[in-house]
Amino acid sequence: MWRYRRGLALGMGSLVVKDIVGAALPLVIRAGVDSLTSGFRLALVFQLAALLVGLSLLKGIFQYWMRVILIGISRDVEFDLRNDLFSHLITLSSDFYAKYRTGDIMARSTNDLNAVRMMLGPGIMYWTETMFTAILSIGVMLSVNWQLTLICLVPAPLVSLVVILFGRRIHDRFEAIQKMFSDISSRVQENLSGVRVIRAYAQEDAETRKFELLNQDYVEQNIGLAKLSALFMPLLQALIGMGFLIVLLFGGYQLLQHRLSLGSFLMFNTYMGMLVWPMIALGWVVNLMQRGTASWERIMELMREKPAVVGRESRPSQDVKGELRFLNVEMQYPAGAALKNVKLTIPAGETVAIVGHTGSGKSTLVSLIPRLIDPTGGEVLLDGVNLRDLDPQWLRRQIGFVPQETFLFSATLAENIAWGVDSATEAQIERAAELAGLAPDIAGFPAGYRTMIGERGLTLSGGQKQRVAIARAILRDPRILVLDDALSSVDTLTEERILNGLTDVMRGRTTVLISHRVSTVRGARRIFVLEHGEIVEQGTHAQLVASGGYYADLYQKQLLEEELEAI
Ligand code: ADP
Ligand code: MG
Repeated sequence: MWRYRRGLALGMGSLVVKDIVGAALPLVIRAGVDSLTSGFRLALVFQLAALLVGLSLLKGIFQYWMRVILIGISRDVEFDLRNDLFSHLITLSSDFYAKYRTGDIMARSTNDLNAVRMMLGPGIMYWTETMFTAILSIGVMLSVNWQLTLICLVPAPLVSLVVILFGRRIHDRFEAIQKMFSDISSRVQENLSGVRVIRAYAQEDAETRKFELLNQDYVEQNIGLAKLSALFMPLLQALIGMGFLIVLLFGGYQLLQHRLSLGSFLMFNTYMGMLVWPMIALGWVVNLMQRGTASWERIMELMREKPAVVGRESRPSQDVKGELRFLNVEMQYPAGAALKNVKLTIPAGETVAIVGHTGSGKSTLVSLIPRLIDPTGGEVLLDGVNLRDLDPQWLRRQIGFVPQETFLFSATLAENIAWGVDSATEAQIERAAELAGLAPDIAGFPAGYRTMIGERGLTLSGGQKQRVAIARAILRDPRILVLDDALSSVDTLTEERILNGLTDVMRGRTTVLISHRVSTVRGARRIFVLEHGEIVEQGTHAQLVASGGYYADLYQKQLLEEELEAI
Protein backbone atom coordinates (compact mmCIF):
# COMPACT_ATOMS: atom_id res chain seq x y z
CA MET A 1 0.00 0.00 0.00
CA TRP A 2 3.05 2.20 0.39
CA ARG A 3 3.08 2.56 -3.40
CA TYR A 4 -0.22 4.41 -3.12
CA ARG A 5 0.70 6.64 -0.17
CA ARG A 6 -0.21 9.85 -2.02
CA GLY A 7 -3.66 8.64 -3.01
CA LEU A 8 -4.07 7.17 0.43
CA ALA A 9 -3.26 10.52 2.02
CA LEU A 10 -5.75 12.25 -0.28
CA GLY A 11 -8.47 9.71 0.48
CA MET A 12 -7.84 9.89 4.19
CA GLY A 13 -7.83 13.70 3.95
CA SER A 14 -11.27 13.59 2.34
CA LEU A 15 -12.37 11.25 5.10
CA VAL A 16 -11.19 13.66 7.80
CA VAL A 17 -12.88 16.69 6.20
CA LYS A 18 -16.09 14.73 5.71
CA ASP A 19 -16.07 13.58 9.34
CA ILE A 20 -15.34 17.05 10.73
CA VAL A 21 -18.14 18.61 8.68
CA GLY A 22 -20.43 15.75 9.71
CA ALA A 23 -19.58 16.24 13.38
CA ALA A 24 -20.36 19.97 13.10
CA LEU A 25 -23.94 19.33 11.95
CA PRO A 26 -25.43 18.56 15.41
CA LEU A 27 -23.75 21.71 16.75
CA VAL A 28 -25.73 23.75 14.21
CA ILE A 29 -28.90 21.98 15.29
CA ARG A 30 -28.17 22.79 18.92
CA ALA A 31 -27.45 26.48 18.19
CA GLY A 32 -30.61 26.70 16.06
CA VAL A 33 -32.97 25.08 18.57
CA ASP A 34 -31.52 27.05 21.48
CA SER A 35 -31.83 30.37 19.66
CA LEU A 36 -35.37 29.57 18.52
CA THR A 37 -36.60 28.66 22.00
CA SER A 38 -35.88 32.28 22.94
CA GLY A 39 -38.02 33.61 20.05
CA PHE A 40 -39.20 32.32 16.66
CA ARG A 41 -37.95 34.16 13.56
CA LEU A 42 -38.58 32.80 10.06
CA ALA A 43 -35.44 34.43 8.67
CA LEU A 44 -33.33 32.56 11.24
CA VAL A 45 -35.00 29.26 10.33
CA PHE A 46 -34.06 29.80 6.68
CA GLN A 47 -30.51 30.77 7.59
CA LEU A 48 -30.07 27.65 9.68
CA ALA A 49 -31.67 25.47 7.05
CA ALA A 50 -29.33 26.89 4.41
CA LEU A 51 -26.35 26.24 6.67
CA LEU A 52 -27.47 22.64 7.25
CA VAL A 53 -27.98 22.02 3.55
CA GLY A 54 -24.62 23.61 2.70
CA LEU A 55 -22.74 21.54 5.29
CA SER A 56 -24.47 18.35 4.19
CA LEU A 57 -23.58 19.05 0.60
CA LEU A 58 -19.96 19.61 1.55
CA LYS A 59 -19.99 16.40 3.54
CA GLY A 60 -21.49 14.54 0.58
CA ILE A 61 -18.82 15.80 -1.81
CA PHE A 62 -15.97 14.69 0.43
CA GLN A 63 -17.70 11.39 1.15
CA TYR A 64 -17.83 10.80 -2.60
CA TRP A 65 -14.11 11.46 -3.00
CA MET A 66 -13.27 9.37 0.04
CA ARG A 67 -15.02 6.38 -1.48
CA VAL A 68 -13.75 6.86 -5.03
CA ILE A 69 -10.14 7.29 -3.94
CA LEU A 70 -9.92 4.67 -1.19
CA ILE A 71 -11.93 1.95 -2.93
CA GLY A 72 -10.01 2.73 -6.13
CA ILE A 73 -6.74 2.16 -4.31
CA SER A 74 -7.96 -1.19 -3.04
CA ARG A 75 -8.56 -2.20 -6.68
CA ASP A 76 -5.03 -1.10 -7.55
CA VAL A 77 -3.65 -3.10 -4.66
CA GLU A 78 -5.68 -6.10 -5.78
CA PHE A 79 -4.23 -5.68 -9.28
CA ASP A 80 -0.67 -5.60 -7.89
CA LEU A 81 -1.29 -8.50 -5.58
CA ARG A 82 -2.74 -10.65 -8.34
CA ASN A 83 0.21 -9.87 -10.63
CA ASP A 84 2.71 -10.53 -7.84
CA LEU A 85 1.03 -13.81 -7.03
CA PHE A 86 0.95 -14.96 -10.64
CA SER A 87 4.55 -14.02 -11.39
CA HIS A 88 5.55 -15.80 -8.19
CA LEU A 89 3.53 -18.94 -8.94
CA ILE A 90 5.08 -19.24 -12.36
CA THR A 91 8.60 -19.40 -10.90
CA LEU A 92 7.80 -22.24 -8.51
CA SER A 93 9.11 -25.72 -9.21
CA SER A 94 7.28 -28.95 -9.71
CA ASP A 95 7.54 -30.00 -6.06
CA PHE A 96 5.34 -27.02 -5.18
CA TYR A 97 2.74 -28.11 -7.71
CA ALA A 98 2.90 -31.62 -6.31
CA LYS A 99 2.09 -30.20 -2.87
CA TYR A 100 -0.79 -27.84 -3.74
CA ARG A 101 -3.78 -28.85 -5.83
CA THR A 102 -4.65 -26.66 -8.81
CA GLY A 103 -8.12 -25.92 -7.47
CA ASP A 104 -6.64 -24.84 -4.15
CA ILE A 105 -4.28 -22.41 -5.87
CA MET A 106 -7.15 -21.09 -7.99
CA ALA A 107 -9.32 -20.57 -4.91
CA ARG A 108 -6.57 -18.66 -3.16
CA SER A 109 -5.92 -16.43 -6.12
CA THR A 110 -9.59 -15.53 -6.59
CA ASN A 111 -11.71 -15.87 -3.45
CA ASP A 112 -8.97 -15.11 -0.94
CA LEU A 113 -7.60 -12.28 -3.00
CA ASN A 114 -11.05 -10.70 -2.97
CA ALA A 115 -11.32 -11.04 0.81
CA VAL A 116 -7.96 -9.29 1.14
CA ARG A 117 -9.14 -6.49 -1.11
CA MET A 118 -12.28 -6.03 0.98
CA MET A 119 -10.07 -5.70 4.05
CA LEU A 120 -7.68 -3.20 2.46
CA GLY A 121 -10.40 -1.09 0.81
CA PRO A 122 -13.75 -0.90 2.58
CA GLY A 123 -12.26 -2.47 5.73
CA ILE A 124 -9.63 0.16 6.38
CA MET A 125 -11.88 2.98 5.16
CA TYR A 126 -14.78 2.20 7.47
CA TRP A 127 -12.45 1.41 10.32
CA THR A 128 -10.84 4.86 10.14
CA GLU A 129 -14.18 6.51 9.57
CA THR A 130 -15.70 4.82 12.60
CA MET A 131 -12.79 5.67 14.86
CA PHE A 132 -12.66 9.26 13.71
CA THR A 133 -16.41 9.84 13.94
CA ALA A 134 -16.43 8.31 17.41
CA ILE A 135 -13.54 10.46 18.63
CA LEU A 136 -15.02 13.68 17.22
CA SER A 137 -18.56 13.03 18.46
CA ILE A 138 -17.49 11.91 21.89
CA GLY A 139 -15.11 14.88 22.11
CA VAL A 140 -17.91 17.39 21.41
CA MET A 141 -20.34 15.54 23.70
CA LEU A 142 -17.79 15.57 26.53
CA SER A 143 -17.25 19.31 26.17
CA VAL A 144 -21.00 19.97 26.35
CA ASN A 145 -21.97 17.66 29.19
CA TRP A 146 -19.37 15.21 30.42
CA GLN A 147 -21.59 13.44 32.98
CA LEU A 148 -24.22 12.57 30.41
CA THR A 149 -21.53 11.53 27.92
CA LEU A 150 -19.88 9.14 30.36
CA ILE A 151 -23.23 7.56 31.19
CA CYS A 152 -23.95 7.17 27.46
CA LEU A 153 -20.66 5.35 27.06
CA VAL A 154 -21.43 2.70 29.70
CA PRO A 155 -22.29 0.11 27.01
CA ALA A 156 -19.01 0.79 25.15
CA PRO A 157 -16.85 -1.81 26.97
CA LEU A 158 -19.57 -4.35 26.31
CA VAL A 159 -19.39 -3.46 22.63
CA SER A 160 -15.63 -4.11 22.63
CA LEU A 161 -16.11 -7.41 24.41
CA VAL A 162 -18.72 -8.58 21.90
CA VAL A 163 -16.53 -7.46 18.99
CA ILE A 164 -13.47 -9.32 20.30
CA LEU A 165 -15.38 -12.50 21.16
CA PHE A 166 -17.23 -12.69 17.88
CA GLY A 167 -14.31 -11.50 15.82
CA ARG A 168 -12.13 -14.45 16.79
CA ARG A 169 -14.85 -16.98 16.09
CA ILE A 170 -15.67 -15.39 12.74
CA HIS A 171 -12.00 -15.58 11.82
CA ASP A 172 -11.72 -19.29 12.60
CA ARG A 173 -14.99 -20.07 10.85
CA PHE A 174 -14.02 -18.15 7.78
CA GLU A 175 -10.63 -19.82 7.62
CA ALA A 176 -12.33 -23.22 7.65
CA ILE A 177 -14.79 -22.08 4.98
CA GLN A 178 -12.05 -20.86 2.64
CA LYS A 179 -10.26 -24.18 3.09
CA MET A 180 -13.44 -26.01 2.16
CA PHE A 181 -13.86 -23.77 -0.84
CA SER A 182 -10.37 -24.82 -1.91
CA ASP A 183 -11.41 -28.47 -1.56
CA ILE A 184 -14.50 -27.87 -3.68
CA SER A 185 -12.52 -26.00 -6.35
CA SER A 186 -9.93 -28.77 -6.47
CA ARG A 187 -12.63 -31.38 -6.77
CA VAL A 188 -14.33 -29.53 -9.63
CA GLN A 189 -11.04 -28.95 -11.38
CA GLU A 190 -9.98 -32.60 -11.10
CA ASN A 191 -13.37 -33.86 -12.21
CA LEU A 192 -13.45 -31.59 -15.23
CA SER A 193 -9.91 -32.55 -16.23
CA GLY A 194 -10.67 -36.22 -15.74
CA VAL A 195 -14.16 -36.16 -17.15
CA ARG A 196 -13.35 -38.78 -19.79
CA VAL A 197 -12.17 -41.25 -17.16
CA ILE A 198 -15.21 -40.57 -15.02
CA ARG A 199 -17.54 -41.27 -17.92
CA ALA A 200 -15.55 -44.30 -19.08
CA TYR A 201 -15.95 -45.85 -15.61
CA ALA A 202 -19.57 -44.68 -15.31
CA GLN A 203 -18.72 -42.79 -12.14
CA GLU A 204 -20.88 -39.71 -12.81
CA ASP A 205 -23.39 -40.50 -10.06
CA ALA A 206 -20.75 -41.48 -7.54
CA GLU A 207 -18.78 -38.31 -8.23
CA THR A 208 -21.93 -36.20 -8.06
CA ARG A 209 -22.76 -37.72 -4.68
CA LYS A 210 -19.27 -37.06 -3.36
CA PHE A 211 -19.50 -33.51 -4.62
CA GLU A 212 -22.89 -33.02 -3.02
CA LEU A 213 -21.49 -34.16 0.29
CA LEU A 214 -18.65 -31.68 0.06
CA ASN A 215 -21.03 -28.97 -1.03
CA GLN A 216 -23.36 -29.80 1.86
CA ASP A 217 -20.51 -29.36 4.34
CA TYR A 218 -19.66 -26.05 2.75
CA VAL A 219 -23.24 -24.82 3.02
CA GLU A 220 -23.44 -25.91 6.65
CA GLN A 221 -20.24 -24.10 7.53
CA ASN A 222 -21.51 -20.99 5.77
CA ILE A 223 -24.84 -21.16 7.58
CA GLY A 224 -22.83 -21.41 10.78
CA LEU A 225 -21.04 -18.21 9.85
CA ALA A 226 -24.32 -16.55 8.94
CA LYS A 227 -25.74 -17.53 12.35
CA LEU A 228 -22.72 -16.04 14.04
CA SER A 229 -23.08 -12.80 12.07
CA ALA A 230 -26.83 -12.78 12.61
CA LEU A 231 -26.24 -12.88 16.36
CA PHE A 232 -23.42 -10.40 16.25
CA MET A 233 -25.18 -7.54 14.48
CA PRO A 234 -28.38 -7.37 16.58
CA LEU A 235 -26.30 -7.69 19.74
CA LEU A 236 -24.31 -4.65 18.70
CA GLN A 237 -27.50 -2.78 17.82
CA ALA A 238 -29.07 -3.65 21.14
CA LEU A 239 -26.05 -2.25 22.94
CA ILE A 240 -26.31 0.91 20.86
CA GLY A 241 -30.02 1.09 21.63
CA MET A 242 -29.07 1.11 25.32
CA GLY A 243 -27.08 4.28 24.65
CA PHE A 244 -30.21 5.91 23.21
CA LEU A 245 -32.23 4.82 26.18
CA ILE A 246 -29.69 6.35 28.53
CA VAL A 247 -29.77 9.69 26.69
CA LEU A 248 -33.54 9.66 26.83
CA LEU A 249 -33.62 8.81 30.56
CA PHE A 250 -30.79 10.89 31.98
CA GLY A 251 -30.85 13.60 29.32
CA GLY A 252 -34.62 13.94 29.70
CA TYR A 253 -34.23 14.14 33.48
CA GLN A 254 -31.55 16.84 33.19
CA LEU A 255 -33.71 18.68 30.66
CA LEU A 256 -36.63 18.79 33.07
CA GLN A 257 -34.25 19.96 35.79
CA HIS A 258 -33.14 22.76 33.43
CA ARG A 259 -29.57 21.55 33.66
CA LEU A 260 -29.55 20.75 29.92
CA SER A 261 -30.93 22.94 27.13
CA LEU A 262 -33.38 21.50 24.59
CA GLY A 263 -30.77 22.15 21.88
CA SER A 264 -28.13 20.14 23.74
CA PHE A 265 -30.61 17.33 24.34
CA LEU A 266 -31.35 17.17 20.62
CA MET A 267 -27.66 17.37 19.87
CA PHE A 268 -26.95 14.36 22.07
CA ASN A 269 -29.66 12.44 20.29
CA THR A 270 -28.24 13.38 16.91
CA TYR A 271 -24.76 12.29 17.93
CA MET A 272 -26.05 8.97 19.20
CA GLY A 273 -27.82 8.58 15.86
CA MET A 274 -24.61 9.40 14.06
CA LEU A 275 -22.75 6.78 16.06
CA VAL A 276 -25.22 4.03 15.17
CA TRP A 277 -23.97 3.56 11.63
CA PRO A 278 -20.26 3.51 12.56
CA MET A 279 -21.03 1.00 15.32
CA ILE A 280 -22.85 -1.24 12.86
CA ALA A 281 -20.08 -0.65 10.37
CA LEU A 282 -17.66 -1.66 13.10
CA GLY A 283 -19.30 -5.07 13.28
CA TRP A 284 -19.09 -5.41 9.55
CA VAL A 285 -15.50 -4.13 9.49
CA VAL A 286 -14.47 -6.63 12.16
CA ASN A 287 -15.98 -9.29 9.91
CA LEU A 288 -14.05 -7.97 6.91
CA MET A 289 -10.81 -7.73 8.87
CA GLN A 290 -11.11 -11.25 10.20
CA ARG A 291 -11.88 -12.65 6.77
CA GLY A 292 -9.15 -10.54 5.21
CA THR A 293 -6.44 -11.65 7.63
CA ALA A 294 -7.45 -15.30 7.29
CA SER A 295 -7.23 -15.00 3.51
CA TRP A 296 -4.05 -12.95 3.67
CA GLU A 297 -2.41 -15.77 5.59
CA ARG A 298 -3.50 -18.26 2.92
CA ILE A 299 -2.06 -16.11 0.15
CA MET A 300 1.17 -15.49 2.03
CA GLU A 301 1.55 -19.23 2.43
CA LEU A 302 1.92 -19.39 -1.35
CA MET A 303 4.11 -16.29 -1.49
CA ARG A 304 6.52 -17.77 1.06
CA GLU A 305 7.15 -20.81 -1.13
CA LYS A 306 10.61 -20.57 -2.65
CA PRO A 307 11.51 -21.94 -6.07
CA ALA A 308 13.64 -25.04 -5.54
CA VAL A 309 15.91 -24.01 -8.41
CA VAL A 310 17.45 -20.65 -7.70
CA GLY A 311 18.83 -18.32 -10.31
CA ARG A 312 22.22 -16.70 -10.52
CA GLU A 313 22.90 -13.83 -12.84
CA SER A 314 25.97 -15.43 -14.39
CA ARG A 315 25.90 -16.55 -17.99
CA PRO A 316 29.05 -17.53 -19.90
CA SER A 317 30.20 -15.00 -22.44
CA GLN A 318 31.37 -17.47 -25.05
CA ASP A 319 28.99 -19.56 -27.15
CA VAL A 320 27.66 -22.78 -25.74
CA LYS A 321 29.40 -25.80 -27.19
CA GLY A 322 27.05 -28.26 -25.59
CA GLU A 323 29.22 -30.73 -23.71
CA LEU A 324 27.34 -32.22 -20.80
CA ARG A 325 28.98 -34.05 -17.94
CA PHE A 326 27.28 -35.80 -15.05
CA LEU A 327 29.60 -36.27 -12.06
CA ASN A 328 28.39 -38.80 -9.46
CA VAL A 329 24.87 -37.47 -9.76
CA GLU A 330 22.32 -38.59 -7.19
CA MET A 331 18.63 -37.76 -7.14
CA GLN A 332 16.71 -38.56 -4.03
CA TYR A 333 12.92 -38.25 -4.12
CA PRO A 334 10.93 -38.54 -0.90
CA ALA A 335 9.90 -42.01 -2.06
CA GLY A 336 13.45 -43.14 -2.75
CA ALA A 337 16.50 -42.68 -4.92
CA ALA A 338 15.78 -42.21 -8.63
CA LEU A 339 19.42 -41.75 -9.66
CA LYS A 340 22.47 -43.29 -8.01
CA ASN A 341 26.03 -42.31 -8.76
CA VAL A 342 25.43 -41.49 -12.41
CA LYS A 343 28.63 -40.73 -14.28
CA LEU A 344 28.41 -39.93 -17.95
CA THR A 345 29.77 -37.57 -20.53
CA ILE A 346 27.91 -36.35 -23.59
CA PRO A 347 30.46 -34.78 -25.94
CA ALA A 348 29.50 -31.52 -27.63
CA GLY A 349 27.62 -32.00 -30.88
CA GLU A 350 26.97 -35.71 -30.42
CA THR A 351 23.71 -37.61 -30.46
CA VAL A 352 23.40 -39.95 -27.52
CA ALA A 353 20.53 -42.10 -26.34
CA ILE A 354 19.31 -43.36 -23.01
CA VAL A 355 17.28 -46.54 -22.76
CA GLY A 356 15.83 -48.35 -19.79
CA HIS A 357 12.67 -49.75 -18.22
CA THR A 358 9.92 -47.35 -17.17
CA GLY A 359 10.80 -46.01 -13.76
CA SER A 360 14.53 -46.50 -14.30
CA GLY A 361 15.11 -42.74 -13.96
CA LYS A 362 15.41 -41.58 -17.58
CA SER A 363 13.08 -38.62 -17.26
CA THR A 364 14.67 -37.64 -13.97
CA LEU A 365 18.09 -37.71 -15.60
CA VAL A 366 17.16 -35.34 -18.43
CA SER A 367 15.13 -33.03 -16.17
CA LEU A 368 18.48 -32.11 -14.66
CA ILE A 369 19.74 -30.63 -17.93
CA PRO A 370 17.41 -27.57 -18.09
CA ARG A 371 17.43 -27.49 -14.27
CA LEU A 372 13.78 -28.37 -13.92
CA ILE A 373 15.18 -30.02 -10.81
CA ASP A 374 18.61 -29.82 -9.20
CA PRO A 375 20.41 -33.02 -8.19
CA THR A 376 20.54 -33.88 -4.50
CA GLY A 377 24.14 -35.03 -4.92
CA GLY A 378 26.97 -34.63 -7.40
CA GLU A 379 26.95 -32.08 -10.18
CA VAL A 380 26.01 -31.57 -13.81
CA LEU A 381 28.39 -29.52 -15.94
CA LEU A 382 27.75 -27.69 -19.20
CA ASP A 383 31.03 -26.98 -21.00
CA GLY A 384 32.75 -27.52 -17.66
CA VAL A 385 30.54 -25.06 -15.70
CA ASN A 386 28.35 -26.32 -12.88
CA LEU A 387 24.70 -25.78 -13.86
CA ARG A 388 24.04 -24.44 -10.38
CA ASP A 389 26.22 -21.46 -11.25
CA LEU A 390 24.17 -20.62 -14.32
CA ASP A 391 21.07 -18.51 -14.69
CA PRO A 392 18.28 -21.06 -15.29
CA GLN A 393 16.45 -18.76 -17.71
CA TRP A 394 19.54 -18.33 -19.84
CA LEU A 395 20.29 -22.06 -19.65
CA ARG A 396 16.78 -23.02 -20.73
CA ARG A 397 16.99 -20.79 -23.78
CA GLN A 398 19.89 -22.94 -25.01
CA ILE A 399 17.83 -26.12 -24.76
CA GLY A 400 14.98 -27.54 -26.79
CA PHE A 401 13.19 -29.79 -24.34
CA VAL A 402 10.39 -32.13 -25.35
CA PRO A 403 8.96 -33.53 -22.13
CA GLN A 404 7.46 -36.99 -21.89
CA GLU A 405 4.04 -35.47 -21.37
CA THR A 406 3.45 -32.75 -23.92
CA PHE A 407 1.34 -29.75 -23.18
CA LEU A 408 -0.39 -27.67 -25.82
CA PHE A 409 -2.02 -24.32 -25.18
CA SER A 410 -5.50 -23.49 -26.44
CA ALA A 411 -4.22 -21.47 -29.37
CA THR A 412 -3.67 -22.09 -33.06
CA LEU A 413 -1.30 -24.75 -34.29
CA ALA A 414 1.13 -22.13 -35.57
CA GLU A 415 1.07 -20.34 -32.21
CA ASN A 416 1.72 -23.59 -30.40
CA ILE A 417 4.72 -24.35 -32.58
CA ALA A 418 6.10 -20.80 -32.38
CA TRP A 419 5.39 -20.62 -28.68
CA GLY A 420 8.06 -18.63 -26.86
CA VAL A 421 9.70 -17.40 -30.06
CA ASP A 422 7.95 -14.14 -30.93
CA SER A 423 10.04 -13.47 -34.01
CA ALA A 424 9.20 -16.77 -35.74
CA THR A 425 8.28 -16.38 -39.40
CA GLU A 426 5.75 -18.50 -41.25
CA ALA A 427 8.52 -20.18 -43.21
CA GLN A 428 10.33 -21.15 -40.00
CA ILE A 429 7.16 -22.59 -38.53
CA GLU A 430 6.49 -24.62 -41.66
CA ARG A 431 10.05 -25.91 -41.75
CA ALA A 432 9.86 -26.97 -38.12
CA ALA A 433 6.58 -28.77 -38.79
CA GLU A 434 8.12 -30.42 -41.84
CA LEU A 435 11.12 -31.67 -39.83
CA ALA A 436 8.87 -32.93 -37.05
CA GLY A 437 6.91 -34.97 -39.59
CA LEU A 438 3.78 -32.96 -38.90
CA ALA A 439 3.31 -31.27 -42.27
CA PRO A 440 1.21 -34.05 -43.88
CA ASP A 441 -1.19 -33.99 -40.90
CA ILE A 442 -1.53 -30.22 -41.03
CA ALA A 443 -2.37 -30.35 -44.72
CA GLY A 444 -5.42 -32.40 -43.73
CA PHE A 445 -6.69 -29.97 -41.08
CA PRO A 446 -9.58 -27.66 -42.05
CA ALA A 447 -7.76 -24.42 -41.24
CA GLY A 448 -4.18 -25.63 -41.70
CA TYR A 449 -1.78 -23.78 -39.44
CA ARG A 450 -4.63 -21.58 -38.17
CA THR A 451 -6.46 -24.59 -36.72
CA MET A 452 -7.37 -23.97 -33.09
CA ILE A 453 -6.21 -26.74 -30.81
CA GLY A 454 -6.69 -27.47 -27.16
CA GLU A 455 -9.74 -26.82 -25.07
CA ARG A 456 -11.97 -25.17 -27.64
CA GLY A 457 -10.54 -26.55 -30.84
CA LEU A 458 -9.39 -29.67 -32.53
CA THR A 459 -8.11 -32.40 -30.27
CA LEU A 460 -4.92 -33.91 -31.61
CA SER A 461 -3.91 -37.53 -31.36
CA GLY A 462 -1.07 -38.47 -29.03
CA GLY A 463 1.40 -38.77 -31.89
CA GLN A 464 0.36 -35.43 -33.38
CA LYS A 465 0.76 -33.74 -30.01
CA GLN A 466 4.24 -35.19 -29.69
CA ARG A 467 5.20 -33.90 -33.09
CA VAL A 468 3.87 -30.39 -32.33
CA ALA A 469 6.11 -30.46 -29.24
CA ILE A 470 9.08 -31.58 -31.34
CA ALA A 471 8.43 -28.82 -33.88
CA ARG A 472 8.28 -26.33 -31.01
CA ALA A 473 11.68 -27.49 -29.77
CA ILE A 474 13.26 -27.43 -33.23
CA LEU A 475 12.00 -23.92 -33.98
CA ARG A 476 13.99 -22.55 -31.05
CA ASP A 477 17.13 -23.64 -32.88
CA PRO A 478 18.64 -24.92 -29.63
CA ARG A 479 22.25 -25.87 -28.88
CA ILE A 480 21.00 -28.90 -27.00
CA LEU A 481 17.92 -30.94 -27.91
CA VAL A 482 16.32 -33.34 -25.45
CA LEU A 483 13.58 -35.70 -26.56
CA ASP A 484 12.08 -37.58 -23.61
CA ASP A 485 10.29 -40.52 -25.16
CA ALA A 486 8.94 -38.03 -27.66
CA LEU A 487 8.44 -40.56 -30.42
CA SER A 488 6.64 -43.19 -28.39
CA SER A 489 3.24 -42.53 -30.02
CA VAL A 490 4.64 -42.28 -33.54
CA ASP A 491 4.82 -45.29 -35.87
CA THR A 492 8.27 -46.58 -36.78
CA LEU A 493 8.15 -45.25 -40.31
CA THR A 494 7.38 -41.67 -39.28
CA GLU A 495 9.94 -42.07 -36.53
CA GLU A 496 12.63 -42.90 -39.02
CA ARG A 497 11.72 -39.89 -41.13
CA ILE A 498 11.81 -37.55 -38.14
CA LEU A 499 15.12 -38.95 -36.92
CA ASN A 500 16.67 -38.49 -40.36
CA GLY A 501 15.44 -34.90 -40.47
CA LEU A 502 16.76 -34.25 -36.98
CA THR A 503 20.19 -35.57 -37.87
CA ASP A 504 20.48 -32.76 -40.42
CA VAL A 505 19.24 -30.01 -38.12
CA MET A 506 21.20 -31.16 -35.13
CA ARG A 507 24.51 -31.57 -36.92
CA GLY A 508 27.15 -30.17 -34.61
CA ARG A 509 24.64 -29.86 -31.75
CA THR A 510 24.04 -32.05 -28.77
CA THR A 511 21.01 -34.32 -28.87
CA VAL A 512 19.76 -36.60 -26.10
CA LEU A 513 17.20 -39.18 -27.13
CA ILE A 514 15.24 -41.20 -24.63
CA SER A 515 13.32 -44.25 -25.66
CA HIS A 516 12.49 -47.79 -24.76
CA ARG A 517 12.54 -48.63 -28.49
CA VAL A 518 15.75 -49.86 -30.03
CA SER A 519 14.70 -48.48 -33.41
CA THR A 520 14.84 -44.95 -32.00
CA VAL A 521 18.26 -45.21 -30.43
CA ARG A 522 20.24 -47.55 -32.65
CA GLY A 523 21.62 -44.68 -34.76
CA ALA A 524 22.93 -42.77 -31.75
CA ARG A 525 26.70 -42.32 -31.38
CA ARG A 526 26.55 -43.66 -27.86
CA ILE A 527 23.84 -45.47 -25.94
CA PHE A 528 23.51 -45.50 -22.15
CA VAL A 529 21.43 -48.15 -20.47
CA LEU A 530 19.80 -47.09 -17.22
CA GLU A 531 18.50 -49.52 -14.64
CA HIS A 532 17.23 -48.63 -11.17
CA GLY A 533 18.87 -45.23 -11.48
CA GLU A 534 22.29 -46.55 -12.45
CA ILE A 535 24.13 -46.64 -15.76
CA VAL A 536 24.66 -50.37 -16.31
CA GLU A 537 25.85 -50.46 -19.93
CA GLN A 538 27.18 -48.01 -22.48
CA GLY A 539 28.52 -48.17 -26.03
CA THR A 540 27.38 -48.13 -29.62
CA HIS A 541 24.49 -50.25 -30.85
CA ALA A 542 26.86 -52.85 -32.26
CA GLN A 543 28.99 -53.01 -29.10
CA LEU A 544 25.97 -53.37 -26.83
CA VAL A 545 24.38 -56.06 -28.97
CA ALA A 546 27.65 -57.94 -28.99
CA SER A 547 28.10 -57.72 -25.21
CA GLY A 548 24.84 -59.59 -24.66
CA GLY A 549 23.45 -57.60 -21.75
CA TYR A 550 20.13 -55.84 -21.11
CA TYR A 551 20.31 -53.96 -24.39
CA ALA A 552 20.98 -57.08 -26.46
CA ASP A 553 17.97 -58.69 -24.78
CA LEU A 554 15.77 -55.74 -25.60
CA TYR A 555 17.00 -55.80 -29.17
CA GLN A 556 16.21 -59.49 -29.62
CA LYS A 557 12.73 -59.06 -28.17
CA GLN A 558 11.90 -56.12 -30.40
CA LEU A 559 13.26 -57.89 -33.47
CA LEU A 560 10.95 -60.75 -32.69
CA GLU A 561 8.01 -58.38 -32.26
CA GLU A 562 8.70 -56.79 -35.60
CA GLU A 563 8.84 -60.17 -37.26
CA LEU A 564 5.56 -61.16 -35.64
CA GLU A 565 3.96 -57.93 -36.82
CA ALA A 566 5.21 -58.55 -40.33
CA ILE A 567 3.31 -61.83 -40.41
P1 ADP B 1 11.47 -43.13 -16.40
O1 ADP B 1 11.42 -41.81 -17.13
O2 ADP B 1 12.68 -43.92 -16.70
O3 ADP B 1 10.24 -43.91 -16.58
P2 ADP B 1 11.36 -41.48 -14.03
O4 ADP B 1 12.58 -40.65 -14.04
O5 ADP B 1 10.10 -40.83 -14.47
O6 ADP B 1 11.61 -42.82 -14.85
O7 ADP B 1 11.14 -42.02 -12.56
C1 ADP B 1 12.15 -42.67 -11.82
C2 ADP B 1 11.66 -42.92 -10.42
O8 ADP B 1 11.51 -41.73 -9.72
C3 ADP B 1 10.34 -43.65 -10.39
O9 ADP B 1 10.40 -44.62 -9.36
C4 ADP B 1 9.33 -42.57 -10.03
O10 ADP B 1 8.31 -43.10 -9.23
C5 ADP B 1 10.18 -41.58 -9.25
N1 ADP B 1 9.76 -40.21 -9.52
C6 ADP B 1 9.75 -39.60 -10.72
N2 ADP B 1 9.36 -38.31 -10.61
C7 ADP B 1 9.11 -38.09 -9.31
C8 ADP B 1 8.69 -36.95 -8.54
N3 ADP B 1 8.42 -35.77 -9.10
N4 ADP B 1 8.57 -37.10 -7.21
C9 ADP B 1 8.83 -38.28 -6.62
N5 ADP B 1 9.24 -39.38 -7.27
C10 ADP B 1 9.38 -39.31 -8.59
MG1 MG C 1 10.07 -41.11 -18.32
